[in-house]
Amino acid sequence: AVLADQIAAGEVIERPASVVKELVENAIDANSSEIDIKIEEAGLKLISVIDDGDGIASDDVAMAFKRHATSKIIDRQDLFKVHSLGFRGEALPSIASVADVTLSTSTGGEGTEIHISGGQVIEEKPAVARKGTTITVKDLFYNVPARLKYVKSVNTELSKITDIVNRLALSYPAISFSLTHNGRELMRSAGRGDQLQVISGIYGISNAREMVKIENHTDDFTVSGYVSLPKLTRSSRSYITLLLNGRYIHNFQLTKAIVSGYGSKLMVGRFPLAVINIQMDALLVDVNVHPTKQEVRITKEDELTELISQTIFNRLASENL
Ligand code: ADP
Ligand code: MG
Repeated sequence: AVLADQIAAGEVIERPASVVKELVENAIDANSSEIDIKIEEAGLKLISVIDDGDGIASDDVAMAFKRHATSKIIDRQDLFKVHSLGFRGEALPSIASVADVTLSTSTGGEGTEIHISGGQVIEEKPAVARKGTTITVKDLFYNVPARLKYVKSVNTELSKITDIVNRLALSYPAISFSLTHNGRELMRSAGRGDQLQVISGIYGISNAREMVKIENHTDDFTVSGYVSLPKLTRSSRSYITLLLNGRYIHNFQLTKAIVSGYGSKLMVGRFPLAVINIQMDALLVDVNVHPTKQEVRITKEDELTELISQTIFNRLASENL
């Protein structure tokens, strides 16, 4: 079973940032309002995620580390809301098979602590814990040296972690996130539900008026969000965030639509800072693409492309630039 978990880990857990993503998504799923992430050595030494969510009942703790044990129900109408589709119930066992994991959790009353290393349960005992879950992952990939070889420098891995945490904070403005690396706080969001405030905090925008709000819809799609004025440009497309029904996605054509909405207002090689929320019927999303790659295809993509670029174009035109 440990071997099967390690094979699954090869799919789901590529690097420290994948662990962070899975653990934070679990905390989000557990209705947390505050999620603190502590990292040491870009996550290779330690990743700790502390949440104030629902917690796991004592009887279910060991089960959470078994393959395909998931407490989450699939709602056909809302398939796209299910983040780890295809890997359901695989994250915790996968992570625990390639690291040293301690989880302590409470649903409110007496809690539980479990220690698992290399997929083997070392100890499970009652523990005093506040409501919520703390999971600590140490020595990631210690028993899979081949995987360790693929992990890049501390800076590269750290930037991937920061990127994931930033996008999750943008996706869930009502949750307060913090990210600390080697004792230094890198990021904190207020959790007040204000997306523009999260954008300003993450990207260091002192004057929120440098971002303009957009909003528009067709029968099939609603788009809203914030785009920077053309003077506030960036050197790469990575400052563009697309959120589809609240989830961070990658989509080349839609990213292009955002840039093209600027018409000729951008210099060559310069890109806007933008966060675009797309709301649509989840059944129009083609999730039949590798789920962890976040690449998504959309039915009627041309209609959406046109809506996004036109909305941005018209909005900037009305700014009298
Ligand atoms: P999945 O998220 O696909 O269900 P995971 O392996 O990520 O699978 O988690 C297994 C189960 O453990 C979850 O279904 C959930 O019941 C429980 N769980 C994991 N992390 C948390 C958390 N932070 N708070 C509450 N429950 C959690
Ligand atoms: Mg999960």
